Amino acid sequence: NGSVSGEDQPTTSGVENGHQEPFVIGVAGGASSGKSTVCKMIIDQLRDQRVVVVTQESFYYGLSDEELVHVHDYNFDHPDAFDTELLLSCMENLKHGKAVDIPNYNFKTYKSVASARKVNPSDVIILEGILVFHDSRVRDLMNMKIFVDTDADVRLTRRIRRDTIEKGRDIKTVLDQYSKFVKPAFEDFILPTKKYADIIIPRGGDNDVAIDLIVQHIRTKLGQHDLCKVHPNLYVIQTTYQI
Ligand code: ADP
Ligand code: MG
Repeated sequence: NGSVSGEDQPTTSGVENGHQEPFVIGVAGGASSGKSTVCKMIIDQLRDQRVVVVTQESFYYGLSDEELVHVHDYNFDHPDAFDTELLLSCMENLKHGKAVDIPNYNFKTYKSVASARKVNPSDVIILEGILVFHDSRVRDLMNMKIFVDTDADVRLTRRIRRDTIEKGRDIKTVLDQYSKFVKPAFEDFILPTKKYADIIIPRGGDNDVAIDLIVQHIRTKLGQHDLCKVHPNLYVIQTTYQI
């Protein structure tokens, strides 16, 4: 037809492959900002849909023996700590309706263990993690990008509580790691990706209104998908949208 080009071109992949591409949501934000909590709230409200959560933490590189000896000097908050190529290929496969094996990372041994988690294609795929907006190729797979924006003192307080009470670490180690790695990485790598967000949620999981609006929007988008399934002719007018 020649009237549209590039990104605005209508997609017919749903027809060709016999399925509609899943709706991919990225959830980024600082450590302990409430990303997992926000994801859980979204899933709880979308109970009637097939939703799957992939966390970036599954894609941590395992540590070498040398790195294990100096584990306190290892920067877990740096983009290079993650196997982004593997994350990208898993997300591309899921986006195209293929099942994938997500690595199973063990936080006690700092190694990826063999028993991977099989994830089946779904209607909604949520990818959450501190740096999921860092790589443009991963970002470009997302239909909706959410940044959970929680004050630094709240994030630090939660981290101290979690690492001392739940993980049994001493407070000095937690504070050293925070000032050496967590805070600089937030400022250098995580905060600069906030500009890519479509939605910024202040106060994370405390923000019921924001969660309600997000869920409503997802439902609208999924409804459009269903409409296209019922009326195949509508495929020709559906565009590849970026919200
Ligand atoms: P993230 O996934 O961003 O690291 P989590 O959702 O795991 O953050 O939250 C970190 C910690 O803070 C968890 O212990 C969680 O229970 C707690 N938490 C998260 N959101 C809230 C909230 N709105 N109010 C109180 N505690 C919260
Ligand atoms: Mg989490």
